[in-house]
Amino acid sequence: MNTSDSLRGDIRRIKGIGEKRAQALNKLGVFSLFDLISYFPRRYEDRSTVRPVGLLSDGEAATICVICGDEPRLSRIRRGLDLVRFRAYDDSGEITITYFNQPYVRNQIHRGGSYRFYGRVEVHGSRRSMVNPACEPEEASGPLSVTGRIVPVYGLRSGLQQKLVRQSVRQGLDSCLSSLPEVLPDALRREFRLADAAFAYEAIHFPESIQALEQARRRFVFEELFVLSCALGSRQRSTQDGIRIPAADFEAFYAALPFSPTAAQRKAVMEAAEELSSGRQMNRLLQGDVGSGKTLVAAALIWQSSKAGYLSLFMAPTEILAEQHYATLSEFLAPFGIRIALLTGSQRAAEKRAVREALERGELDLVVGTHALLSEGMEYPRLALAVTDEQHRFGVDQRARLARSGTEALPPHVYVMSATPIPRTLALIIYGDLSVSILDELPPGRQPVETFCVNSGYHTRLLAFIRKLCGEGRQVFVVCPKVEEEAEPGSDGEPGFQAADGAEQNLLSAVEYAQKLRGELPELRIDCLHGRMKPAEKGTAMQKMLSGETDVLVATTVIEVGVDIPNAALMLVENAERFGLSQLHQLRGRVGRGKHQSYCVLVTDNKSDDVQARMKVLCESADGFRIAEEDLRLRGPGDFFGSRQHGLPEMHLADLGAETETLLRAKKAAERLLTEDPQLQEPEHRDLNDRVRILEEKMNGTLN
Ligand code: ADP
Ligand code: MG
Repeated sequence: MNTSDSLRGDIRRIKGIGEKRAQALNKLGVFSLFDLISYFPRRYEDRSTVRPVGLLSDGEAATICVICGDEPRLSRIRRGLDLVRFRAYDDSGEITITYFNQPYVRNQIHRGGSYRFYGRVEVHGSRRSMVNPACEPEEASGPLSVTGRIVPVYGLRSGLQQKLVRQSVRQGLDSCLSSLPEVLPDALRREFRLADAAFAYEAIHFPESIQALEQARRRFVFEELFVLSCALGSRQRSTQDGIRIPAADFEAFYAALPFSPTAAQRKAVMEAAEELSSGRQMNRLLQGDVGSGKTLVAAALIWQSSKAGYLSLFMAPTEILAEQHYATLSEFLAPFGIRIALLTGSQRAAEKRAVREALERGELDLVVGTHALLSEGMEYPRLALAVTDEQHRFGVDQRARLARSGTEALPPHVYVMSATPIPRTLALIIYGDLSVSILDELPPGRQPVETFCVNSGYHTRLLAFIRKLCGEGRQVFVVCPKVEEEAEPGSDGEPGFQAADGAEQNLLSAVEYAQKLRGELPELRIDCLHGRMKPAEKGTAMQKMLSGETDVLVATTVIEVGVDIPNAALMLVENAERFGLSQLHQLRGRVGRGKHQSYCVLVTDNKSDDVQARMKVLCESADGFRIAEEDLRLRGPGDFFGSRQHGLPEMHLADLGAETETLLRAKKAAERLLTEDPQLQEPEHRDLNDRVRILEEKMNGTLN
């Protein structure tokens, strides 16, 4: 059997992994043996150095090697709470160890025995203690031991424990370590001095040293980027036939607008219009900073399509946005007699039916809507153009479905709009086969949003500022990172070890914040908007803000995407450290859309260099591209890319922003290889070919 085939086999086939464990692993997205060994640790704890008890300081996480000084005692504090406690010592000092609700520890630890413990130390005066430390006998060794070595820490879901994942990965590795496929050709490995697969898989999970870990990591970063480059490189730019939409004279369209389009808007319209009339299918991305006027560009293309008798779809990520786009597009397009309908999930069945029937009768030129556009039974005769706004909010398959939603012999043209600028090097790799238009100019007359960063000590002054602005008739957004206070999901779930992260963070919840604000500003009308509300309720809240019935809207990031309220003059972001730079930039884009001077205030009490650096970028720059680049540099692409934004597969290790060097090298190497062996047919490229195919399956045609 081909090694790659066995790697694709179900984890249930691995010795030691039964049904129950398999189901738990499935929750992590681990189905095959390959998934399992590719489930890399999220971080590591270096527990290798054994520290003398007497030198431990408060708060330190450390491994100690001690002798148990007395027989562990079990005491019941009250129902549901018991503890086992004992003293232990080494040459340098003594420590008290306590386990809560783990009575069995009593049978595992005995007076006079030698054990290693790893945990966080507390020091009170001259007394030292540890609570629920990881523990094993001093003689324990091997990759699965949890003290005295570097220990992997995996990302978990509730109900799973580190131990289970570690054991499963170990069993997975043992079952294939001698027959692992090698996707990197020997010559390439030599050229770039990369570790081989067997070493790398072992060391990424159970490193013997920091150096070994680094070697493994370096290899996988290269491998990921190399395989990705091979997958992208073997794709051809779409040359699929498309519906030919005759070119139109856009001056007629522009003349009917309330303003004249910017040069960037005109250029973007021309670039797309040319492709629409080319007879090839268009797959184009429009990138434009918040407020750059992307809607207008889409409207022009919809106008071109409708003139030729074709239907267009316009899909927005939320109902609020769909409604707003419906209103804006109607304003732009109704003067031309273009027939527009709105379709959202919360509409009554009768309304939806009316839209469906109008479509059947050919009475519509444009349908604006949410995901409801893609629901069962919707058919779109004469569909020629599918536009999605804020594309990163859509799942990959939703976009693919949109592209397949027409009933014509030819697929519709696809136009995706994004306000998340992507740094140029990255765009080249991601959209190597997609055409891109850029709106790099804001409509005239915009005043830059004045941005400040303050700490929560400014609260009273901010209240006065809100009062003043609202007194002048302006409106205010307040954004909080969470809906309601809820317990942070706890530790790394390892029995006998309480993780030290998940530090207490005093997050302000939107609901609580609104309540507090109502008390502080009783004369103002304060409303709240968050993701857990029903769509209709959200709609009402947004509507009240639009009509000026609300002075201050306290919200979660549901307002992040495109909603336009020109009268809003202040965006106040609480716990700003919790947001990514690009996200903050998006939020800021919600104000400064009217004629009033607008402000953005970022509130954070986090003084770390990293957070302060991020805030500084925002205060100094209004350029979405520059901010995106900084975001990548400072934070890495994890959040930047969301889980699978842009259709890119998730990178396990590679940091697409920071590793531009490796990325370019891997890309070059891939191109070279593909010129020698375009189909990856050579026997020595078989494993690579397999891996590229797995990746392509994952990307599932979403990049074209
Ligand atoms: P975004 O790119 O963020 O989606 P919008 O399409 O919502 O931007 O446009 C932002 C605002 O700018 C809207 O109120 C729109 O009417 C206005 N606008 C768009 N183009 C122009 C222009 N050329 N001149 C003046 N205002 C414009
Ligand atoms: Mg928009």
